[in-house]
Amino acid sequence: KQAAYARLREVEPFTRDGQRVQVMMNAGLRDDVPMLPLTGADGIGLFRTEFQFLISSVLPQRERQTRLYKDVLDAAGDKPVIFRTVDIGGDKSLPYINSENAREDENPAMGWRALRLALEREGLMKVQARALLDGAAGKTLNVMFPMVSEIWEFDAAKAVFEEQLAFLKDRKHKLPQAINYGVMLEVPSLAEMMDLLVDKVSFISVGTNDLTQFLFAADRSNPVLAERYDWLSPSILRFLDRIAKGVVGTRVDLGVCGEMGGRRLEALALIGLGYRRLSITPAAVGQIKELVRQVDTKAISQAMTGWLSSPPPSMREALTAWAADNGI
Ligand code: PEP
Ligand code: MG
Repeated sequence: KQAAYARLREVEPFTRDGQRVQVMMNAGLRDDVPMLPLTGADGIGLFRTEFQFLISSVLPQRERQTRLYKDVLDAAGDKPVIFRTVDIGGDKSLPYINSENAREDENPAMGWRALRLALEREGLMKVQARALLDGAAGKTLNVMFPMVSEIWEFDAAKAVFEEQLAFLKDRKHKLPQAINYGVMLEVPSLAEMMDLLVDKVSFISVGTNDLTQFLFAADRSNPVLAERYDWLSPSILRFLDRIAKGVVGTRVDLGVCGEMGGRRLEALALIGLGYRRLSITPAAVGQIKELVRQVDTKAISQAMTGWLSSPPPSMREALTAWAADNGI
């Protein structure tokens, strides 16, 4: 198997009916980037910038952040990288960001975290914005904001970047060649605003890890619940279907960056719903590239449409049987 995946390293994944599916990888440290050429991933669809903060005992200085972002982009070469602004707070609390708010969090996943924290600690956001803009000088910068629940939060976060951009322009810094702003869709409330959101963002990346926990009201880190709600349950698939339909006819680039996309049946279902960009754990890239090459998108999309309108007793069993029948 591993040898077969290695052979796929240089192969661009097209489906049997000629649809290109981007298979990207998730990363968080500079040391993860060599996995790009090793796996043959199409880029880094989620770079979790908070890792640098989590492994540091002090707030990483702007210069250190700039160096990291620049190094990652240099190492990625022509391949795109999507940097997610810090998703800290809550359970990923940092000793150097003390706050009354953090101490009061009894339910950290739904607490004072990610953009909620970053927009209040404006200094943190400004420093990261400047570091990302400087780090991407002369290149394309893709920035993604985590835990956006309402559209104004995206506007506010983007405004911080635009303000720093104007500042750097004034100072005659070399600027990024292009900047694309996007959101993670991981809080269900944002999905209700799709029609307005698509006019604002360049891309949307569905974070199925958090989305699932919020949709089912089931803590993603609670082992008792881990097996209870299946990624292939009709409610999550219908939800993902609505999101996919919401970008049809727009210029918004849609993907998934949760762990769901790294599993064969789940990836098959996502392709059937119209998703064409999956960002997954590096270890899964080979098997998902292989899967893409076995899929006929029209056939799986038709099957998904039928199952979503009239769900079988087990979607997992239905997909397993379908995959076997279709030589997958
Ligand atoms: C997600 O929530 O699906 C996601 C990709 O982000 P994280 O796992 O870092 O919360
Ligand atoms: Mg998340």
